[in-house]
Amino acid sequence: MLQAPLLLTPGPLTTSLATRTAMLKDWGSWDGDFNALTASVCADLLAIANGGDSHCCIPLQGSGTFAVEAAIGTLLPRDGHMLVLANGAYGERMAKIVSTMGRKVSVLRWPDGTPVDPIAVRSALSSDDSISHVGVIHCETATGLLNPLDAIAQAVAAQGRALIVDAMSSFGALDIDLQRQPIAAVIAASGKCLEGVPGMGFVIAQRAAIALAKGNSNSLALDLADQYDYLQRTGQWRFTPPTHVVAALRAALDQYLAEGGRPVRLARYQANAEVLITRLQAAGLRLFLQPELQAPIIMTFYAPAHPDYRFATFYQAMRERGFLLYPGKLTEVETFRVGCIGAIESAALEQAAHAIVDVLNQHGWL
Ligand SMILES: *Cc1c(COP(=O)(O)O)cnc(C)c1O
Repeated sequence: MLQAPLLLTPGPLTTSLATRTAMLKDWGSWDGDFNALTASVCADLLAIANGGDSHCCIPLQGSGTFAVEAAIGTLLPRDGHMLVLANGAYGERMAKIVSTMGRKVSVLRWPDGTPVDPIAVRSALSSDDSISHVGVIHCETATGLLNPLDAIAQAVAAQGRALIVDAMSSFGALDIDLQRQPIAAVIAASGKCLEGVPGMGFVIAQRAAIALAKGNSNSLALDLADQYDYLQRTGQWRFTPPTHVVAALRAALDQYLAEGGRPVRLARYQANAEVLITRLQAAGLRLFLQPELQAPIIMTFYAPAHPDYRFATFYQAMRERGFLLYPGKLTEVETFRVGCIGAIESAALEQAAHAIVDVLNQHGWL
């Protein structure tokens, strides 16, 4: 391989040269310049979700899961009870986090590929007053399914509960508007649709909820109320910040805004997804989801039915052609996934689709 492979994976993903070169400088974490960098990144992240004055942005070291764990551990009181709406592996992970953090959890489940039903959410809430919070995954990355966030947020608000949204793989591309949608907290990370490098999560949380959350957390490092308090008082992160990751995210946000922000990012991903789906369907591969449920983030395809098909062999052959794919994340059926986010254009997806079909044909699997 002459060049680094294209990452057709939903984070880490392919980043631009400008984003990668932003990491060539070292920063002092106590320095005013770095504090200004943190402040500007947080202000932009808040603005992307239209957080206004009602919400604040709290950055956190670590991968996305650290931020999910921090949000749940901070926002749920010790005697809180969270209803997790699960239709895939990330929903299940959220439920596991709630119980690991020692909070009470209930799970409302749908099969892979079936969206969360807001009417069922409403009735589950009306029949259990002890549920204080509801958790949902916006784009379920395990399949690529987009859950109906507007209707879910309305259903949860109508029952007077607080909604926590894992928007890891949708933030920056799909619509999240905190002035329109009643949401207590949105969780995302540097290395997905914002096209930064991995290493930093963030939570856009209601100021009022954070003010009430002091003392909830049973973790020191993952206490977002404390992180926010310290950030406000000093301009600094509590513990060593991922300086180069923040600098890369600043560069990625500059490109995001120059490109035209969320609508333009979404349009590019939609064009990427469309090329991939059209080409692979034309070759006889089948998309796992109904098209109207598919987010333009990551696509799940049924593996070829041929008995000799092996994902590991397919993966290696694709790797030799310069593309990294993802295995499926479904337990019942054999699938593979192709991401269409990152600093890539539809021409790259065209080449990837061509390579996929070629490799499958060469092995006689199609
Ligand atoms: C990527 C992702 C996460 C976080 O995963 P990490 O491996 O911790 O970065 C959480 N939820 C969803 C929906 C994701 O796509």
